[in-house]
Amino acid sequence: MIKQSKIDATILIVDDEPGIRNSVHEFIGMAGYKSFETSSAEEALEILKTNTIHVVITDIKLPGMNGLELTDLIKNSYDTDVIVMTGYVGDYSYEEAINKGASDFVSKPIRFEELLLRLRRVLRERNITKERALMLARLQELAITDNLTTLYNSRCFYKQLDSEIDRSRRYNHPITLMFMDIDHFKRYNDTYGHLEGDKVLSRFAQIIKSCLRKMDTAYRYGGEEFTVILPETSRGEVMTVAKRIMAAIENEKFSPPSGKSISMTISIGVTEYCPGERISTFVQRADKAMYLSKQRGRNQISTIFSDKDSESTDS
Ligand code: GH3
Ligand code: MG
Ligand code: MG
Repeated sequence: MIKQSKIDATILIVDDEPGIRNSVHEFIGMAGYKSFETSSAEEALEILKTNTIHVVITDIKLPGMNGLELTDLIKNSYDTDVIVMTGYVGDYSYEEAINKGASDFVSKPIRFEELLLRLRRVLRERNITKERALMLARLQELAITDNLTTLYNSRCFYKQLDSEIDRSRRYNHPITLMFMDIDHFKRYNDTYGHLEGDKVLSRFAQIIKSCLRKMDTAYRYGGEEFTVILPETSRGEVMTVAKRIMAAIENEKFSPPSGKSISMTISIGVTEYCPGERISTFVQRADKAMYLSKQRGRNQISTIFSDKDSESTDS
């Protein structure tokens, strides 16, 4: 037997000829794989319902449903590979089996060494496909995540805001936006160093996240600026969330190496989407509300609910 590193897998063998079925089953077992065996496609489907099967090795000619129909059903419902085997190469083409989604094809009489090589190749390819999908998902996640805070980044913010506005238009739901900027952060950085500043940023991100509801999403918009999109949120609700963030930040103390216990504050701006307006107008209004909080002495929440509304502060 050819030596290769083995991938853990469960195999199901489907053949109505007991002699072939048993010997394939035995051989697969000797190769170190867990395996099931059955004599019909119908029974195979039952086994698939209750067991995780990685590869089905099936005969084409079976008493009821044939192996190609079985392949078709498996490929439509399960994450399972299929290797078909047949003594009727003339009746069923390689293309037919592959078109149904089979990963490989062996002809009878079965050469066990060949079957094992093909099985191992199918398992290797399964693994590669899975690893690739995982890597792609990880890359997609990295592309929308801010490294330091693990919040979403600003690229993701605009994309998400666009789709949330779309949804709010469709369902006629209000959508609100919060802009936040840490007060006198440069001073903290200059006094305690950039690394200590980074710790503050990470902690603020955690605090903000912990104050949000399930559907709200937080983003690191820039250096020490954060945004939160609050879908289906009324003016009253967004103020509750903003006040919760202010209170949590007020309770937080930072201890840079100098040993002092330091409180930090944040300025918040809140606004609501006005139907029909451009995203940039919406975002600029949230930013303007945040700057109002800065102008009025920082450590407070300001709201501008529409361009016509009077501006208000709630500290
Ligand atoms: P204000 O209250 O007006 O917002 O004052 P501020 O000092 O917070 O604002 P300013 O815009 O003057 O300074 C922002 C500082 O944020 C300057 C910059 O060094 C710091 N900063 C930006 N990004 C990072 C980062 O990733 N890590 C650290 N440690 N500091 C950062
Ligand atoms: Mg700042
Ligand atoms: Mg700033």
